Amino acid sequence: MQHSNVTLKDQQLLKNFSYINGSWHSSANEISVTNPANGELVAKVSNAGIAETELAVKAAKSAFKLWSSKSANERATLLRNWFNLMMEHQDDLGRILTLEQGKPLAEAKGEIAYGAAFIEWFSEEGKRVYGDTIPAPSGDKRIIVIKQPIGVVAAITPWNFPNAMIARKAAAALAAGCTFVVRPATQTPLSALAMAELAERAGIPAGVFNVVVGDDARGMGKVLTEHVDVAKFTFTGSTGVGQSLISQCASTVKKVSMELGGNAPFIVFDDADVDAAVAGALVSKYRNAGQTCVCTNRILVQEGIKEEFTTKFIAAVKGLTLGDGLTEGVTIGPMISELAVADVNDLVKRSVAEGAELVLGGEPSELGGGFLAPTILTNVTNEMPIASNEIFGPVSPIITFKDEAQAIAIANDTEFGLASYFYSRDIGRIWRVAEGLEYGMVGINEGLISNAAAPFGGMKQSGNGREGSKYGLDDYMEIKYLCMGGLDK
Ligand code: NAP
Repeated sequence: MQHSNVTLKDQQLLKNFSYINGSWHSSANEISVTNPANGELVAKVSNAGIAETELAVKAAKSAFKLWSSKSANERATLLRNWFNLMMEHQDDLGRILTLEQGKPLAEAKGEIAYGAAFIEWFSEEGKRVYGDTIPAPSGDKRIIVIKQPIGVVAAITPWNFPNAMIARKAAAALAAGCTFVVRPATQTPLSALAMAELAERAGIPAGVFNVVVGDDARGMGKVLTEHVDVAKFTFTGSTGVGQSLISQCASTVKKVSMELGGNAPFIVFDDADVDAAVAGALVSKYRNAGQTCVCTNRILVQEGIKEEFTTKFIAAVKGLTLGDGLTEGVTIGPMISELAVADVNDLVKRSVAEGAELVLGGEPSELGGGFLAPTILTNVTNEMPIASNEIFGPVSPIITFKDEAQAIAIANDTEFGLASYFYSRDIGRIWRVAEGLEYGMVGINEGLISNAAAPFGGMKQSGNGREGSKYGLDDYMEIKYLCMGGLDK
């Protein structure tokens, strides 16, 4: 196997061991991390398992006492250091991310800044964990409400955002006063380990932030979901895996938050600014080669502007440059694996067999089996496989609709409820549609919606809990009610 050249400004950011209780742990076996653009070996990482996961939970449990008793200001200073270091090393972190995940370097560096922004946000938000006083029903009592960190937080994260999906959770957990154990996706452990190296340099104490890397997803997942010392479990990944992890958490009645799959509708009404809608659809569909949970999954276009939108959209998609994410000028990288390409191709073929029309792409790429050229299908119905499944690839199915009521009905006809988008300039319609969409997030005349100040999360089978914003700390805190009685003289 050929070796990808991993040359960094700071070579110490490339780590090969799990990070537990402030030290680097080697294990007997290794995992190969490969570059999705060419299959070359990027690095070998020690393959940890159940024993190391238990060790990490134990470390997080004993670190909790010290970390939770620090003042919010003290924690904020350390988190701010971590944020500064991530931004200082943005180039190297971006490079590592592109090598293991495939997205274009500019996008990878964007992910580092996005992930770091959550650390910055929660370093500040941690200082504003306010309690409450509530008028009591009788004069001899007082009701006081305080918030306290929940304890050890365990997390499992996916490969599509190897840095940000960890940063979004760890930032809130640590700011709240919790300690943290994460098991990153097997395909993309290097970004997580680089974060651990920087957490250590930032002065975050041993045991507060732990990363266990291993390919025994089930075994390690069982520890993280069933361990009695884990108070809270947080997951980002597919709905199917999330469902089984929720049931595993039931045995110890853990607090759970789930960021699961999506099937985002992107609705273009006939009063929309079509050029703005084309630009919004392009970015929300093809970012990360279509492999984000908030990616547009179905484009719904009103009949009267179908021709104009489709013509302009095809022209815009043709302007994307497919290639290795480290090559200058590339705007869309490979998919995570050849298997992922085959799965998406299968959805396309089955939908074409049911009457969809392939108007762009759909051919094998000469760049190799890990690449899928940006593809567009028209004449799609909501029942076709390409519309009813989460695509997770660079394919745009276009569905037409007659009126507003039909658009909302089609958009909501899915078990998912994560992100949605629509373009309109009619203020009445904007309110009606925004309120009618059964989604946790709605982009109105906007295709890029996520940032640290806003609550990210889904409804229905897309999950529960919110990451980011002033609501984000609540998932990592207990509300405790103090009843003071006997105040009568
Ligand atoms: P996945 O197959 O569910 O895997 C996610 C993580 O779960 C990986 O770390 C995986 O480990 C682990 N895992 C798999 N099976 C497990 C099991 N039985 N027990 C414990 N852990 C297990 O999802 P994916 O394909 O990597 O990610 C894509 C999905 O994530 C999409 O559905 C996407 O919409 C969703 N997602 C949601 C959000 C959000 O915020 N809502 C954000 C990003 C992605 P291995 O790597 O070892 O398989």
